Amino acid sequence: MSGKSAEFFDEGSLVGVLTTQPLDRILDYKAPEGGCWLGAFVEVPLGPRKVLGVVWGSGVGDYDRSKIRSVIRVLDAAPMRAEMREFLGRAADYTLTPMSAMLRLATRAPGLGDAPSMRLVYRLGNGAPDRMTPAREKVLAVLEDYGGLSFTLKELAEMAGVGTSVVKGLVKSGAVREEASPRDTPYPRLDPDHGGKKLTTDQARGAMVLREAVRSQTYGTTLLKGVTGSGKTEVYLEAVAECLRVGRQALVLLPEIALTGEFIDRVEARFGVKPAEWHSGVTLTERRRCWKMVGQGEAQLVVGARSALFLPFRNLGLIVVDEEHDTSYKQEDGVLYNARDMTVLRASLNAAKVVLASATPSLESWANVEAGKYARLTLESRFGPAVLPQMRAIDMRAEELPSATWISPTLRRAVQARIEKSEQSLLFLNRRGYAPVTLCRACGAQIGCDDCDARMVEHRFLKRLMCHQCGETKPMPTVCPTCEAEDRLAPVGPGVERLAEEAQTAFPDARIAILSSDLYGSGRALKEHIAEIAEGGCDIIIGTQLVAKGHNFPLLTLVGVIDADLGLQGSDLRAAERTFQLMRQVAGRAGRAEAPGEALLQTFQPEHSVIRAILGGDEEAFWAAEAAERKAAGVPPYGRMAGIVISSTEAAQAFDLGNEMARNDMPLRRIGAQVFGPAPAPIARVRGRHRVRLLVKAEKGAPLQQALAQWVGQFRLKGELRLAVDIDPQSFL
Ligand code: ADP
Ligand code: ZN
Repeated sequence: MSGKSAEFFDEGSLVGVLTTQPLDRILDYKAPEGGCWLGAFVEVPLGPRKVLGVVWGSGVGDYDRSKIRSVIRVLDAAPMRAEMREFLGRAADYTLTPMSAMLRLATRAPGLGDAPSMRLVYRLGNGAPDRMTPAREKVLAVLEDYGGLSFTLKELAEMAGVGTSVVKGLVKSGAVREEASPRDTPYPRLDPDHGGKKLTTDQARGAMVLREAVRSQTYGTTLLKGVTGSGKTEVYLEAVAECLRVGRQALVLLPEIALTGEFIDRVEARFGVKPAEWHSGVTLTERRRCWKMVGQGEAQLVVGARSALFLPFRNLGLIVVDEEHDTSYKQEDGVLYNARDMTVLRASLNAAKVVLASATPSLESWANVEAGKYARLTLESRFGPAVLPQMRAIDMRAEELPSATWISPTLRRAVQARIEKSEQSLLFLNRRGYAPVTLCRACGAQIGCDDCDARMVEHRFLKRLMCHQCGETKPMPTVCPTCEAEDRLAPVGPGVERLAEEAQTAFPDARIAILSSDLYGSGRALKEHIAEIAEGGCDIIIGTQLVAKGHNFPLLTLVGVIDADLGLQGSDLRAAERTFQLMRQVAGRAGRAEAPGEALLQTFQPEHSVIRAILGGDEEAFWAAEAAERKAAGVPPYGRMAGIVISSTEAAQAFDLGNEMARNDMPLRRIGAQVFGPAPAPIARVRGRHRVRLLVKAEKGAPLQQALAQWVGQFRLKGELRLAVDIDPQSFL
């Protein structure tokens, strides 16, 4: 290696290229004509194919030099920066993921290899139209209103409310100019001083602390805790503003695509223009634009889902993780990573700040504050006159309900009172569909999924049964698949659709809306529906946990939790924490405007410690008690865990490997770790594959990943076997 600098490879010198192909090593190539930079995105030959890769260092050269092929070309993208390469390496080590898979995460934009593409745009021309029509006038008026701006054909026609042929006609006469311009254009600049709100004392103090933190341009993490509606978003937007002022880029992660719409509007109000977006609801062209502009520093703020963490930021100064406790930050297939934890890693390599915002932080983050690793900022009260709702339990043992109904008389009276005052009520039930179980009254059989050990859930809207594990659906049968009795199938238990039916019977004149993720084809439809409800479009909202996530319903004053005990069943170590978070989030929906709210929890165990903690509202006491229990048990965040899931089309094969692994656990014993299992996974069959679990527990400081890699490396995966290692598992299914 020689030439311009240690980071540049002259033509013909050996470079090591990491590709996106599942080969676990770096391949040697010759640098192409004109040379290439370290980190360059390149196209290289691999067998008969051309694949995407990144120049990872100089070549090793232990291979017959005459056989080494050349890099085909360098792609039109900013080279991957050193801190990004280190981030991918460290994230791979932490999650025990091959580097090629990490690189795939970091290059998930279509057409990266394409030449910079052009598109036709339209702007005001010098010519005069041969004749004027009302439609033509509209087009010219739009172009005049927007000064020098240009639009695509579709945009322009839509804005003018005319057909595209009208625009084309104007082009012919020269009144409108058609020209080619690059497709991937920079995002408009955000103005940090555009539209800040006047903050309360509490908020202003928080904003000041965060602004200073961002200005220091060093790593640090702050837990921003405050009840729903206390203005956390307002406060962290001030940190974003400061980040823009110092010329660095900011990233805001949101847990739910449905939330991005409302958030984008707030960004626009605060900074004058919309930010870049990165999530599954964004078109492929827009994704590529975002990826490229982030790399060139031409996107100042990205709002996105967890995978936005792998975008090639040029100068990242701040990452906000909103609703940091949300379980959707954990990716549960492919590369198993927790975006919240990876955020902290990425920020530490970029000298960037992290803000973790939540009304109900994860115990992990709470413990990191206790340990002094994170700073903490608390917003004590809700903004304006809104106060936290009164919370009470409804003891279901004392309520009389007709069979197959779930709304107790007490809750019913409370809803009735709201209807009379034209206020809204929310009935919360975290179960999609009509009924969780369909049972044959003749033989007692329950209808299950053919490919999974899960029951099929009736969805009456779709008129189908659906497996919530694999998504398979089938028409609702009229004959029992087991005993062939006719018309004896009956729904058991409630889902939101069935609850809506009960509510409609109980309140015949009420307008009822269901908010459940499966009922909306698109994020836009959902967003519009939410806006309609917020403006008073219904009296009773029936919702799953979708409603718990940060929507504003100003007219809502009553939350009724149909089954507060639901989350407490099951053996998940985070069951108590999750129930606590969910119940508080849901209760937080009520009483956001002037009217005070009330939350009623239907429970059969009002004396349960978690239910008491929720009602008592003494959060610190709840966290402390939960922390003490986890400490005593040596489980996260006070101990380390890893889940191993082995799967195969044959149950015996999966069990044999599980047993073999449990017997040969020397690498784990060396670090004092223990193996539990193998046991059938709680859902023992998914998509026709039998699943077996092992659980590894270690002390907090133990070098778990190294030991796991050694241990797993001892076994060969024969035939149909597959194995996945899940570090810090969140889900135990
Ligand atoms: P959180 O993120 O904690 O749930 P938000 O930032 O969304 O809280 O604030 C809740 C509502 O109150 C929002 O509609 C927000 O615009 C409004 N709000 C909060 N603080 C202020 C303020 N200082 N001035 C005006 N409106 C505010
Ligand atoms: Zn299934």
